[in-house]
Amino acid sequence: MTPRTRFAPSPTGFMHIGNLRTAIFEYLVAKHNGGKFILRIEDTDQNRKVEGAIDFIYNTLKLCDIKIDEGPNNEGEFGPYIQSERLDLYKKYALELVEKGHAYYCFCTEQELEEMRERANARKKPFLYDGRCSKLSKETIEENLKKGVPYVIRQKMPKTGTTIVDDVVYGKIKIDNSVLDDQILLKSDGYPTYNFANVVDDHLMQITHVIRGKEYLDQTAKYNLLYDAFGWEKPTYIHVAMVLGSDGNKLSKRNGDASFMDLYNDGYLPEAIVNYLVLLGWSPETNQEIFSMEELIKNFNENRISKSSSQYDVKKLNWFNAKYIKALSDEDYLKFIRPFLTHDVRGKSEEWINKLLLIYKDHLSFGKEINDLVNIFFNNEINISKENEEFLQSDENIPVVINAYKEEIAKIKEWNVENIAEVITRVKEKTGIKGKLLYMPIRIKISGIEHGPELPDEIYLIGQDKVLERLS
Ligand code: GLU
Repeated sequence: MTPRTRFAPSPTGFMHIGNLRTAIFEYLVAKHNGGKFILRIEDTDQNRKVEGAIDFIYNTLKLCDIKIDEGPNNEGEFGPYIQSERLDLYKKYALELVEKGHAYYCFCTEQELEEMRERANARKKPFLYDGRCSKLSKETIEENLKKGVPYVIRQKMPKTGTTIVDDVVYGKIKIDNSVLDDQILLKSDGYPTYNFANVVDDHLMQITHVIRGKEYLDQTAKYNLLYDAFGWEKPTYIHVAMVLGSDGNKLSKRNGDASFMDLYNDGYLPEAIVNYLVLLGWSPETNQEIFSMEELIKNFNENRISKSSSQYDVKKLNWFNAKYIKALSDEDYLKFIRPFLTHDVRGKSEEWINKLLLIYKDHLSFGKEINDLVNIFFNNEINISKENEEFLQSDENIPVVINAYKEEIAKIKEWNVENIAEVITRVKEKTGIKGKLLYMPIRIKISGIEHGPELPDEIYLIGQDKVLERLS
């Protein structure tokens, strides 16, 4: 059978990096095995639905070079790929289970359920539906249905024995059936629960590998019982440990910093994000760290997915991103970085702007950072700290060097980096001063700070008039 995996997000208009990592793993399992990657939108919780969320998901996956073989915008033969458009199907299959004795109508009111919950609370037991509606007579059921009494359909769980879940990452897990709730499959509004819809859809869409968060692992016993009840073949399960936030907590929309789009908008390259995320929870056989999508597809192996959760570490992401930025051609780099520059560049030539941006190509962790790095070239006033002021007074040679620079720089006819570099050499020869005393005083005088890009570049970018003014 052709391997088929699916990414099944809820359309919340938000994708944190944990969700994205799941999508990447799903894509890689499919593509490594020559299979198909399917996008299915799980919108059965209509309260969480957000306008435009499907486009958002498409954009995110597209940016990450994850190609969807079938999904809402490119229907294959197993559509529709949006759960709210498949309601008839779920009802049909729920009724089939009722017919087979693996599910039943439940007419319990909210009040009855509340009483059950309270009783469970009082006994300090988890709430499990007590199964009373599974004992209703055929006549009562028919009468209720005729009268239009609201109902849900519940799965009838075995009360004894165990169910085994076999998972690629976690191995065989044994669950006592006595802890399984007669869970709701179909809600009173006709919508299926996630627990039901995912099984029906994974079967109908011929999904061979289900890859999802570990939080679903314990639930999977219930899904297996559903597969068995229908007589369907189970998929291969690959549950993946969580990606925790940098504070060690679960990722959530509220900790917005871990959202893919936020990272993208801050100037992280999608290739770098993908590369970073894959290695959060998967280890290649070699110690290679930089992987193109092609290499990932070639090397990915689900047997090397880690059991333990990993922690999002922005420093490590910065390291990857810096590598990817450095590897861009100058042309691509300029295209990428220019929109992040928010300083006022009126009156500056294109050449000047490009030169400025290129200087930082090898030092940049993410796009937005450029503004801080280039600050010194946009400040009209410079601030010299007390320590730097003291340094300027600390050696009698410093005024000599500064004066030499002033004279030589004033003489430059054509303002370019080569001529400036020559000036520095000349000042060195003329004054016999080298090292820190040759570079630091001029840096501090013209920018306020003791470090910056290569000195000729720095002088060039600040400009002849300003440099002379500041040296005086
Ligand atoms: N809609 C579920 C979620 O967003 C998908 C879980 C699954 O992949 O089965 O968590």
